[in-house]
Order: sequence, then C-alpha cells, then structure tokens
Amino acid sequence: MKVSRLKHRFVEAFPEKMEEGMLYVALEYDTMSHMCACGCGNEVVTPLSPKDWKFSYDGKTVSVDPSVGSWSLACQSHYVIRNGNILWADKWDEKRIKAGRERDLAVKRGSAVPPTSAVPADTKPVTQRTEPPAVKRVDAKSAKPTSSFWSAVLAFFMGRK
Ligand SMILES: [Zn+2]
Repeated sequence: MKVSRLKHRFVEAFPEKMEEGMLYVALEYDTMSHMCACGCGNEVVTPLSPKDWKFSYDGKTVSVDPSVGSWSLACQSHYVIRNGNILWADKWDEKRIKAGRERDLAVKRGSAVPPTSAVPADTKPVTQRTEPPAVKRVDAKSAKPTSSFWSAVLAFFMGRK
C-alpha cells in the first residue's frame, strides 16, 4: 500500500518484519530503514553519515535529507521525507540517475558539492564538475637545461670553482 506519511520509531535494532509507514532509526548503527513508501514491500536502508543521509527530529516528526531515490528497485521510487510526510518526486531517467551517482561519488571523494536544497521540488542532481583547473603545461624545450650547464662551465673557466 502506498503511504503518504511516515511515522518514526527509534530502535536499537531493526525488527525482522518492519511495518509499512514506519521509519526505523537505529542510532546505534547510524542507519535508518523503512519499507518503500510505494508499497512494493522492499526495505529501503538509508545510512546516516555526513555523506549519506541525515535526519532531523522536531519532537513530533522526522525529516530526511536528501531525497530517497530507490533506483535499484523495480519501482524506482523517489520521494522526500519532510515532517513525516512523503512528498513524491519525479522519477529520474537513466541519465539523471547516472549524474546523481556521479555526484554521490564526488561527495564521497570529498569534492566540494553545493548543499542539497531543502526545498523538495528541487531534487535535481547537481552536476559536479570534476575537471581539474587548467594547468599550463611547460614545454620541455622551453626549460633550457643547458643554460645552467654553460654557466657552470663558464664559472669553471672563470676559476670560481
Ligand atoms: Zn517501492
């Protein structure tokens, strides 16, 4: 059953059988887990880390950032969890999924990535420019290694050595 709201439960370990519409938060393992909100019956595990997901708790409801995109599931569900509400986002095509994965990799490599916007409508992947800044190549010929050789020879004949 497709759910529109997610309750939350702080747990020490995930139960064998998770309830639909329930976000389990296991702080002990820095991981959250829930049944896919589309009702497909798959578990969606969202690790908590500065490079994965984070959640905020206002004492009543939980919000999760960034959006949850289950590209590996058949349903390809994509939604934002905001104050316990499931806000459905558009499905991504292959190109966007790839861009999103590349962005994730960039984050894991520690490249600077603009923070994900908190506005649910703006779940577009941020295309990360990974090219290094233009480096001026030094032409080997222009390095003139002979000059120091000749100045050494000159110094030799000048009797300064
Ligand atoms: Zn699903």
